[in-house]
Amino acid sequence: MRAKAAVLTGFGKPLEIRKIDVADPGPTEVRVRIVASGVCGSDAKVCAGRNPLYPQPPVVLGHESAGIVEATGAAVTSVSPGDHVLVAMNRACGRCPECASGHAYLCQGEARHSAVAGRLADGRTPFSLDGRELPAFIGIGSFAEQVVVGEEMLIPVPDEDFDASLALLACAVVTGTGAVWRVARVRPGETVLVVGCGGVGLAVVQAAVLAGAARVIAADVNPAKLHEARVAGATDAVDAGDSLPDAVGRLTGRGVDHAFDVTGAAGVAADAMAATKPGGTTVLVGSPASAEIGVPSALLFGGRVLRGCVGGNANPAADLPNLIELVRTGRFSLDPLVSERVPIEEVNEALARQQAGAVTRSLIVFD
Ligand SMILES: [Zn+2]
Ligand SMILES: [Zn+2]
Repeated sequence: MRAKAAVLTGFGKPLEIRKIDVADPGPTEVRVRIVASGVCGSDAKVCAGRNPLYPQPPVVLGHESAGIVEATGAAVTSVSPGDHVLVAMNRACGRCPECASGHAYLCQGEARHSAVAGRLADGRTPFSLDGRELPAFIGIGSFAEQVVVGEEMLIPVPDEDFDASLALLACAVVTGTGAVWRVARVRPGETVLVVGCGGVGLAVVQAAVLAGAARVIAADVNPAKLHEARVAGATDAVDAGDSLPDAVGRLTGRGVDHAFDVTGAAGVAADAMAATKPGGTTVLVGSPASAEIGVPSALLFGGRVLRGCVGGNANPAADLPNLIELVRTGRFSLDPLVSERVPIEEVNEALARQQAGAVTRSLIVFD
């Protein structure tokens, strides 16, 4: 079938709104009508040619989405047409040593490789343009009205709980909360610093609050985002243009237990780490925005820990249903995370606002 999509045709070029062809779902695949797709820094980095994971254009970006099942392959059993779903990231094979040991987020199997290459599990591309193969970012490509994905990537949402903003759970929220709950394992009474208060950073703030952190210090250069961080539950807000170690030192006296660098920008990890107390942990949450992070070795000699993660080391099949329930019960609010809802025709402006740090999250909503 034909669908409207925003297509990246070359690095550094604006996305083009085109009519593309969407493949019929294979036996274990599902075609989903996308209701909403968040605009993530990882999408923007591909546009700029700064995402080392990603192959050459053309490609349909978008990977943080919610929608409605339209068609299912013959062997699909877990969803039916009309079901509301989230499309989870992190396709995993379930059989490689990493999957077998319970670390599916590190999957090294063919399922992951094909997703990173923008293809379905059997190597097909889900889209084509003018008769030529058109890959989908990490095997999703939700800047399109329709996507085709494996059944295993779909997380059902009860119809009565569905809202377009739930799309943000699939990347920003599962990543930010995973970084707090699965990677840092923040404990009640501990102190937290979050540098970068976009969608992921605000998820880190709320996860830290839910974990019982005594103090959650938000840092950003944009006062509007610091305001949203306070709405999300941050106890303190500091200008990230000032010295973070000094600002955090004044507030805590000895540095925080956990720092989260959600910016990936040069120098931020070192500053965040210098704002942790001896033995404290710094987690790099987002996809890297600079090749080197330049951490002084003296900080490590102080027993501090620097940790990476991928997508918050989350297990979407377990974590997304829990997050849906936290939103439904009002314990987690998506409101501070959504700055604007825009049509797909405004995707380039939304990407520019994302890169300028002007918004927490833009949500593309299809009609
Ligand atoms: Zn993302
Ligand atoms: Zn695997």
